Order: sequence, then C-alpha cells, then structure tokens
Amino acid sequence: MEEIRLQKAIANSGVASRRKAEVMITEGRVKVNGKTVTELGTKVKETDKVEVDGIPLSQEEKVHILYYKPAGEISAAEDDRNRRTVVDAFEMMDVRLYPVGRLDYETSGILIMTNDGEFTQYMTHPKYEMSKTYRVKIDGILKREEQKQMRQGIKLEDGMTAPANLKVIRDKNDRQMILELTIHEGRNRQVRRMFEHFGLRVVKLTRISYDFLNLNGLAEGEYRFLKPHEVKKLI
Ligand code: URA
Repeated sequence: MEEIRLQKAIANSGVASRRKAEVMITEGRVKVNGKTVTELGTKVKETDKVEVDGIPLSQEEKVHILYYKPAGEISAAEDDRNRRTVVDAFEMMDVRLYPVGRLDYETSGILIMTNDGEFTQYMTHPKYEMSKTYRVKIDGILKREEQKQMRQGIKLEDGMTAPANLKVIRDKNDRQMILELTIHEGRNRQVRRMFEHFGLRVVKLTRISYDFLNLNGLAEGEYRFLKPHEVKKLI
C-alpha cells in the first residue's frame, strides 16, 4: 500500500496547505491512529486514521473537475436505457466522480465532477445558486418584446422565473437565432422551457459559464482539474 508523508495527506484532504500542515504537526495538533505525532517525516497509509484537532480527515483525496460535457451523455450514475453517463466518462479515475447538478442529455457545456459530497451539497443548495450562462440556438426568432419579458421574468408551470440577462448574439436570418441567457436558478429543463413559453424550440444548448468558470481551452469531451484557489472561490 502506498505511503505518503503526513503533511501531504493533510494537504490532500483540503484542510490546509502543506506548509500549514507542517506547522500543525509540530504544534502537536495531529494524531495518527490515536497517537499524537510531531515528527514531520512520518508516513501514513490510506488505512491510517489521521485526526487534526480531533477531527478525522476524510480518507479519499478530493477531486474537482471542470468537464466540457458533450451532448449525448446522461448526468447521473445510471440510466434505465443504458445510455452513456458522465460517470462512465470518468471510469479511468482512481476515485468515483459524480456530477454537481445536471445538464440534459442533449445539453453540452460546463459540468463540475467531484467526489466531494460537502462541496456538491453547497453548490447545489438553492440559497447559493451560482450564475450560469447558456448559449442557446433556437429555431425561429425571439421578438424584442419577448426578449424584454424573458429578462423580467416569465410564468412557467412551476412559477415565475427570476430576472435574467439576455444578449442576442446573432439573428442573421429570420429562421434561427443565437442568444446568451444568464440565470441564477437551476430548475429542471429551465432554459428549454423558457423558450418553449414563446413557442420556440431550442436546437442547441451549451452552458458556457458557471460562476467565474468558463470553457476556455477545452474542446467538447475534454476536462481539467480545478485549481485549489478556484475551488475555494466557488464555496
Ligand atoms: N436548462 C435546460 O433546459 N437544460 C439544461 O441542460 C440546463 C439548463
């Protein structure tokens, strides 16, 4: 079994930086299997029980990934129709990753994948809804008056939508239009339903930003690890 230095195990768990973890160890705040350890070179195994200030570290290293989900993957662990899921897409990782929230099967764009349950709970709590921007291609035209209504809030079957930002990106012909819609809510199929409200069908939907995160540098199906400062900024 792989052994790692105690300060690395503490840093991996997200409790503190490696430097701070070293200080914690020398201050006598860290126990391994119930015994206080002040020796910085101490190595620990996955099965060792490490506590900082009496609080156990979670065993698994926390992983946070920004995934450019392609259309054609289910945002769940399993599908009753056996379609490919975003969890399948990360099968090669040592840890099992789950999506933070959902995107429809046909929707592409930013989906955060993690094994950090606390992080997921925080991110999906309605109180802390992040702003999300969607690039939307529709069949037909959303008229100026309808754009205004969409910005102010429209009545869907599960209630009024909150004020939203809406930008027209392209309406070169009178058959299709591309827009960017920013919302702070996360209701089921919300964007598609907002356009359906005006009789318009969404033909392509991509989540291009999630709070301060965007898709820069990634192609569909690619991913990158979030940096610790990015994770901190989100929560
Ligand atoms: N709104 C939708 O309609 N679908 C998504 O996948 C995300 C937001």
